[in-house]
Amino acid sequence: MATFHIWTLGCQMNQADSLKLAAGLEKMGYRAVEDDADADLVVINTCSVRQHAEDRAYSRLGMLNKRRRKGAMLSIAVMGCMVGPKTDDLERRFPFVDAWARPQQFDPILELASDSRDTSEGELGNLIPLEAVTRGMTRTYAIPSGPTAYVPVIHGCDKFCTYCIVPLRRGREASRDVEDILDEVRFLAEHGVREVTLLGQTVEAYGHDLPDLPDGSRPDLATLFEGIDAIEGIQRVRFLTSYPKDMTDRIVESVASQPKVCEYFNIPVQSGSDSMLDRMRRGYTVAEFEERVTKIRSLMPDAAIVTDVIVGCPGETEAEFQDTLDLLERIGFDTVHVAAYSPRPGTFASRKMEDDVPQEVKKARLQAVEAVHKASSERINRDILGRTVEVLVEQVEDGRASGRTRRGQIVHFTYTGARGDLVEVMVSQVTPWSAQGHIADELTLSVV
Ligand code: SF4
Repeated sequence: MATFHIWTLGCQMNQADSLKLAAGLEKMGYRAVEDDADADLVVINTCSVRQHAEDRAYSRLGMLNKRRRKGAMLSIAVMGCMVGPKTDDLERRFPFVDAWARPQQFDPILELASDSRDTSEGELGNLIPLEAVTRGMTRTYAIPSGPTAYVPVIHGCDKFCTYCIVPLRRGREASRDVEDILDEVRFLAEHGVREVTLLGQTVEAYGHDLPDLPDGSRPDLATLFEGIDAIEGIQRVRFLTSYPKDMTDRIVESVASQPKVCEYFNIPVQSGSDSMLDRMRRGYTVAEFEERVTKIRSLMPDAAIVTDVIVGCPGETEAEFQDTLDLLERIGFDTVHVAAYSPRPGTFASRKMEDDVPQEVKKARLQAVEAVHKASSERINRDILGRTVEVLVEQVEDGRASGRTRRGQIVHFTYTGARGDLVEVMVSQVTPWSAQGHIADELTLSVV
């Protein structure tokens, strides 16, 4: 039987794409292997958001090429954000790659797999023909490996922030049909999933490009929450990533009122300075961002609010950076994902803006944001010390379990039950990054 290995870099969207491709390959009679040395087909699912991720893909490609030059019989495919609409340049640099595929456009890899399979199997026999597999990819759902799963609901992005490569690589926003998504969630529930995370680069944009529903309304994220609420077995719903301008009152109110939807918002602010936000073309002001946070907290005082920040974007002054630190202090995010700006070829910023913030300044700003993040995470984890929290069990091994609260905090505790259980855990110890607890009642409390 032919074998494959997919190496995935980058975000949850890439992880979901890899699982879908794996499901398609399995339909074709391929078997997944842990080690790429055992694979007939190796796929690298790439990320272009930072140079470091691209460098890792290049280095892995170099190693695969070496193996092939030594006589290994393997097919090599590259998919994901490194692959734009034109591949001439990539083909020149990496002539040994057999197939290039843009995000969600699996056909070139399935065709390569079909050719290799037909050659290695000798005869087609009972194998599913390529056309049937490619036609069915829209409704091909990956069998989950645990109680949580990602479900992409909208692909692409229309926002064109000046520094970002995503719209150029993933294309314009395109929502999946409501029924297709609900079918996938039903399939996941039947296979033991208890928590789904609905994914999109700008997830609240979901539905704007779909036709009206029979009642005349336009489907949106709240429509999906309502549909999933009726699916037996699913106990929690999350969604990411939010874009402040798309986050309507209706969606925030729906999160507050739908019991399965976790009060967890991942809203990248990127900068706390209006002039910097304007240069990034983010399309909102700091005041508008804070108004959204106020709306969330007015309905859900304990909601988790997580954000992303980029430091050292072209022209970022010390005063603009200080505005970002002030905003982080004011809001007290649960988590702050921080990155230093690096120009991505093809973006507006790389063509028109000078990367003029010195590396050592970027590094110092990165560290300053990380310090604020550590302090706020610690404060937020302290809030659950001595309290009982609901945890979805994601891992169980040798009598120890770990899982997340609705707010996304990681909790470790003694447990002999099963993955997917929803349990009440008393938290007895916290660090900025995780908590320890016990299902029993009597505990000694401590902060590390
Ligand atoms: S909203 Fe901006 S940063 Fe986010 S994916 Fe779209 S272009 Fe990139």
